[in-house]
Amino acid sequence: MESSPGYERPRAISRTGEIALEKVPNYPCPRCGQPQLSVYYSDKADSRVGAWCEYCNLKAYYEGEQLIPIG
Ligand SMILES: [Zn+2]
Repeated sequence: MESSPGYERPRAISRTGEIALEKVPNYPCPRCGQPQLSVYYSDKADSRVGAWCEYCNLKAYYEGEQLIPIG
């Protein structure tokens, strides 16, 4: 199998039907207060789909404007 000649871009993934997520780091975390929360945006829907804090390992998803912790 030959690999493709390296001009792929992350955005090309969304054309295949997979969900491409855009990560926006350094949001303040609602649990630990550290600016370590990464918010993930859906490339297609242009809306927030989830968040993860690298500091306290909080995982959460968005329901509308509300951030709902997972677990
Ligand atoms: Zn946190």
